[in-house]
Amino acid sequence: MTEQDCLFCKIVSGDVPATVVRETDRTLAFRDINPQAPTHVLVVPKEHHPTAVELASSDGDLLAELVREAHQVAVADGVAESGYRVVFNTGPGAGQTVFHVHAHVLGGRGLNWPPG
Ligand code: C5P
Repeated sequence: MTEQDCLFCKIVSGDVPATVVRETDRTLAFRDINPQAPTHVLVVPKEHHPTAVELASSDGDLLAELVREAHQVAVADGVAESGYRVVFNTGPGAGQTVFHVHAHVLGGRGLNWPPG
């Protein structure tokens, strides 16, 4: 997978449509096309980084910004006080299918632990 083929790079560039809920200079947040909860938003860096671990190594500030933006998404959707989950699926065995790092923000329903 090259950056040119990357689905989330295409969403960032506007070549693939998405329902955008927040944007900063370095991040974009959009609703997941297959929501698993009433709030299910993906927060991505505009730059291409495959996984959270690689982003942590190359630009920890940007990773921290993803987490702050995840909180802002939860506040905007009214789920921050009841609690929400931020998930970075990392690697195919954990269900990562798009190798452009993204924080899933899930909320608005009861969230079981451990997750499936
Ligand atoms: O963690 P994972 O890589 O599996 O997450 C990818 C997510 O991207 C999925 O939840 C999928 O529904 C979402 N997606 C999307 N818009 C697309 C394609 C996939 O929101 N056009």
